[in-house]
Amino acid sequence: MYDIDTVRQDFPILAREVYGRPLVYLDNAATTQKPREVVEAMVQEYYEVNANVHRGVHYLSQQATDLHEEARRTVARFIHAASEAEVVFTRGTTESLNLVADAYSRAFLHEGDEVLISVMEHHSNIVPWQLARERMGLVIKVIPMTDEGEMDLQAYEQLFTPRTKLVCVAHVSNVLGTVNPVRKMADIAHEHGAHILVDGAQSVPHFSVDVQEIGCDFLTFSGHKVYGPTGIGVLYGREALLERMPPYQGGGEMIARVSFEHTTYERLPFKFEAGTPDYVGTHALAVALDYVSRLGMDHIHHHEQALTQYAMEQMAAIPGMHLYGTAPGKDAVVAFNVGDIHPLDLGTLLDRLGIAIRTGHHCAQPLMQRCGVEGMARASFALYTTRAEVDALVQGIDRVRKMF
Ligand code: PMP
Repeated sequence: MYDIDTVRQDFPILAREVYGRPLVYLDNAATTQKPREVVEAMVQEYYEVNANVHRGVHYLSQQATDLHEEARRTVARFIHAASEAEVVFTRGTTESLNLVADAYSRAFLHEGDEVLISVMEHHSNIVPWQLARERMGLVIKVIPMTDEGEMDLQAYEQLFTPRTKLVCVAHVSNVLGTVNPVRKMADIAHEHGAHILVDGAQSVPHFSVDVQEIGCDFLTFSGHKVYGPTGIGVLYGREALLERMPPYQGGGEMIARVSFEHTTYERLPFKFEAGTPDYVGTHALAVALDYVSRLGMDHIHHHEQALTQYAMEQMAAIPGMHLYGTAPGKDAVVAFNVGDIHPLDLGTLLDRLGIAIRTGHHCAQPLMQRCGVEGMARASFALYTTRAEVDALVQGIDRVRKMF
C-alpha cells in the first residue's frame, strides 16, 4: 500500500551522505526534497518546450501555455476550488499573503477596521498586516492559544466587533504542529460578517485540503513545501472577492488594454499575475501535486500521523525534554528544547551526526515569547521520513544531552 522504501527511491537526495553519515533530513517544514519526476519535468520543459506563455502564436509558446494553464487546473482540482479563475500563481505563501494584505485592504478595509491573526502565526502572516496597518490605520488583534498550543476558540469569538473584517490564521502551525479548527473558525467569522484567510503552507503538504469544505475565502501555500520547486506558490481566493480587489502589481500579462490615459485589467486570475510567470515552476508544481495525489494524501497523512505520535512518545522519554505543542492530532512537526542546552548547539551537534533539524525562532518570534523562550529546536517530517530516522534523532539528542 504505502511502501516507504519504494517511495524513498523517488528522492535521489535521500541517498546522499553528510560528514560520511547517511543524511537524516528532518527540516521538511522549511522545505521538502523533490521527487525525480518533478526535477525531470523542469529539465524536459527547458530542453524541449521553453517559450514565453500567453503571448505567442507559435507552437512552443502554445505548448508552454497549455502546460501552464493545465497546471492551474491541477491546482484547482487539488484544493477543490470551484473554478480555475480562483487560482492565482505567486512566488509562494509570503507573496500570496502580501497580495491579500495589499489588495484586499484596498478593496474592503477602512481606517479602524480590525484584522484577527493568531499568536502562532508565521512572520509572513504578521508583517504584511503591519504594513497595511501603517498604510491605512488598521487594527490588528491577536487570538490567544492554550498552553497545549490550541487556538483559544472562546477568546477568538470574543474578539469580534462590528469592525472585524478579516481573520488570517495558519491551518497548521509550523512550530507546534497544531491543526487549527479552520472550518469552525470560518463559520464563526462568517456569522460575524467577516472573511477568513487560511495559511495552508503547512497543511497542503500533509493532508487533503478542500477549500469548499473548510469554507475559507482565501488559502495560501508554497510549491517548495509540497515537493514542488522553489519560487512558485498559490493564492486561492473566492471569485467574488478577487473580482473586487484591485491589481497587486502592474505590468505585462495583467492588462487588457493600455493607453497613457487609462488602463483596463485582464480577467481573473491574470489580473493578479503581472510579468512573465514562472511557467516551468507551475508545470513542475502540478507534477508534484500529481505525485502526492498518486501516493494518496490520506496515505501520506496516515503515515505522518503515526510517525509524529511515535516521535512525540520517544522524545518525551528523553530526560530534560520539553516538547512544545501537544494538541491531539498535531501534524509532522516536533519543536523542543532539552534541559538548558542552547538549541543552536543542539542543532550544530546533531548536524555532525548527519541529522538536519532547524533551530531558532522559526519565523514566529511572538510565539516564542508566548512560550517564554528565545528559540527551539524543530524536527519536521515528510512523506518519506522513516521510524529509523526518528530513532536516529532520539539517539542523537540523547548523545548530545550527555555531552552537557
Ligand atoms: N506560513 C507558514 C505557516 C510557514 O510555515 C511558512 C514557511 N516556513 C510560510 C508561511 C512562508 O512560506 P514561504 O517562505 O514559502 O513564502
